[in-house]
Amino acid sequence: VLPPIRGDIAFRRVVFEYEPGRPALRGIDLTVRPGQSVALVGHTGSGKSTIINLLSRFYDPTGGTILIDGYDIRDVTVHSLRSQIGIVLQDTFIFSGSIRDNIRFGRLDATDEEVEAAAKAVDAHDFIMKLPDGYNTEVEERGSALSMGQRQLLSFARALLANPRILILDEATASIDTETELKIQEALKVLLKGRTSFIVAHRLSTIRSADHIVVLDHGQIKESGTHEEL
Ligand code: ATP
Ligand code: MG
Repeated sequence: VLPPIRGDIAFRRVVFEYEPGRPALRGIDLTVRPGQSVALVGHTGSGKSTIINLLSRFYDPTGGTILIDGYDIRDVTVHSLRSQIGIVLQDTFIFSGSIRDNIRFGRLDATDEEVEAAAKAVDAHDFIMKLPDGYNTEVEERGSALSMGQRQLLSFARALLANPRILILDEATASIDTETELKIQEALKVLLKGRTSFIVAHRLSTIRSADHIVVLDHGQIKESGTHEEL
């Protein structure tokens, strides 16, 4: 079982092959300090999602190790690992149920006050209150009642409420209007504060605000540094 972590992450010569002989990652060395944010950038197929898949333990490395606070993540239970990692994927997961239950997913013990506080912190409260039944409004899994931007804000509220030490974010590529875009940027700042985060970043604003940028190319780190350095 993984004890409560600070959020120190290290990849040591990590190699991964989905199929034998076709490495998706070819020796990744990466150290991230607690609270730092890393933006992963690179062409399609360069290995961004693979890094996230390994960190969440959807797969285990073919070679090398991944350490969290010095623990090899293969030595801890998947459950204890995932309970301290928040994952916000591109195709934001909304299930059929109320807005409140969607935010509370992963923190079923959260009170209504806590749910609202999380929604307010990411600036989702106002649009929720304009829905027919506010927090009790029922939404559908694939329903179009919510815009992409609204779904993204809901997933941020959900992640904030769960309060994980490590946050993984596969940023949505969908075009969003300027106003929502600004809201999301602000919400992202709130969400990332004090957590170690890995972001597959598509927006320049996100890349700029990351502490560290890692440029992947064919499964290797081509460049890394701050936005100023690159
Ligand atoms: P994108 O920007 O398109 O999301 P990415 O940087 O996230 O790309 P990955 O998904 O990490 O790229 O893919 C890295 C390599 O691994 C690619 O060559 C891809 O074809 C291959 N790959 C990814 N997922 C699988 C899979 N499930 N099975 C086999 N090969 C895969
Ligand atoms: Mg990807």
